[in-house]
Amino acid sequence: MIAEDTGLVHLSTGDILRDELARGSELGQKAKQYMNRGELLPDNLIVTMIEDRIREKDGFILDGFPRTLTQAEALEEIAALDFAINIALSREEVIVRLSARRACAECGRIYNLWFDLPAGNNDELCDNCGIKLVQRDDDTPAVIEKRFDIYMADTRPLIEFYREQGILVEVNGAAAREEIFAQIMRIITT
Ligand code: AMP
Repeated sequence: MIAEDTGLVHLSTGDILRDELARGSELGQKAKQYMNRGELLPDNLIVTMIEDRIREKDGFILDGFPRTLTQAEALEEIAALDFAINIALSREEVIVRLSARRACAECGRIYNLWFDLPAGNNDELCDNCGIKLVQRDDDTPAVIEKRFDIYMADTRPLIEFYREQGILVEVNGAAAREEIFAQIMRIITT
């Protein structure tokens, strides 16, 4: 939604990796084992992957990167961020939402069985493509728990890192999607 509204490029490291995996590239093969276990890829691999994509752009939205202090420090050598947005959500709510996430393998559209159902409701078919929605291999309860633990240990320290730099923005992730979107737009456009 933000990318559409601002024209900024949306760079999601998770999406890039899933695309590499679908294309059967060497990086995709390597990433698969980490992703399915819910573990982070080695920092140098991720930084190399994102570096060229950032360098070519005037402006961008980074989604899922950086996820460690090492990545954040490497990013500082490449670009200066205007904002770091923390969309905060409780562990319980994260587990509920991710367990209910589904996606269309054809067009990539993401649904949620709690609050963003396809038009046919419980048939779990994509509104655009009519094919059965799929669940990410890492959206199972055990892997979600592990991803959350890794987030707490490795990624959460970035909140303090960006607070100290004075560019941290905190948004309540429990609010409705439109409200979160409006809040973020207010912050980044004023
Ligand atoms: P996401 O779609 O952002 O949830 O990412 C899915 C998976 O891709 C993660 O669980 C990691 O295995 C891997 N991944 C994505 N971004 C990063 C990153 N910045 N550093 C390390 N691993 C990542």
